[in-house]
Amino acid sequence: MATTLEHASAIATQVPAKLPPYKLASRALHPEDTVVRVNDVEIGGRGIVLMVGPCAVEDEPLLLETARMARLLGAGILRGGAFKPRTSPYDFQGLGEEGLKMLARARAETGLPVITEVMSEQELPLVAEYADILQIGSRSMSFFRLLEAVAEVGKPVMLKRGFQSTIKEWLLSAEYLLAHGNDQVIMCERGIRSFDSEYTRNTLDLNAVPVLKCETHLPVMVDPSHGTGRRDLILPMSKAAIAAGADGLIIEVHPRPDEALCDGKQSLSLTDLQALVEGLRPITMACGRTMGALVEV
Ligand code: PEP
Ligand code: MN
Repeated sequence: MATTLEHASAIATQVPAKLPPYKLASRALHPEDTVVRVNDVEIGGRGIVLMVGPCAVEDEPLLLETARMARLLGAGILRGGAFKPRTSPYDFQGLGEEGLKMLARARAETGLPVITEVMSEQELPLVAEYADILQIGSRSMSFFRLLEAVAEVGKPVMLKRGFQSTIKEWLLSAEYLLAHGNDQVIMCERGIRSFDSEYTRNTLDLNAVPVLKCETHLPVMVDPSHGTGRRDLILPMSKAAIAAGADGLIIEVHPRPDEALCDGKQSLSLTDLQALVEGLRPITMACGRTMGALVEV
């Protein structure tokens, strides 16, 4: 029988001398990859997961049309904001509960789980009733009380990187979720604010992907839509994200991007989405990953 001291020193030899401050998120104590399961979708496994849909839920027929195409193309998750964090209070703020109900109906018809943003603790009970994955937006990454409350819901959470946050601050926000008992956390790089905004909306920090893969066991998604702000850059940056080791992509799609109430310039049309899925196939295979089956349309 080992003494307490022997037992303690045996554990100490397994624990690296210096743990990072994000202990639970760190690979040091959890070397194997975390796979977040949402119904039959695995995020962080071998498959590249596509989360697609409009920036904001605007209208039910448009959402259904998008969701059907997403399903057909093998996307795993339907995205869509019902509560939108808009820079201007005069811009479209989202449909609120009506938008959540539309997402639920699209899920019922297509079987696709839904991801949607929760902006405040006040809205959390309502959003949690509908969402399969709760999204913490870039602007909310450092709202620590919100993170604690979201963690306690017990559903998977996708934590987008604050656009002015360092990788360490982002990992520490993930640590809030883990420390509050939720281990189903997905990281999402969505671009940071840099000095050059002439050609792109943000700087998609793909350095963050291999850095996170080294530092944490949590799955890593990339959002090239907000990361670039430009529809024509989605395919090249998606390829780069997969090559860098991302576990999936979250992409804004709208049947008529030029009429979208929010982020039309960075939204793909349904035809563009099909081209994207086809365009990603070679790099996905080259990286030893798999993608949802492409059904002939
Ligand atoms: C979004 O994905 O709907 C969104 C608002 O993105 P972000 O929080 O990254 O700006
Ligand atoms: Mn958007």
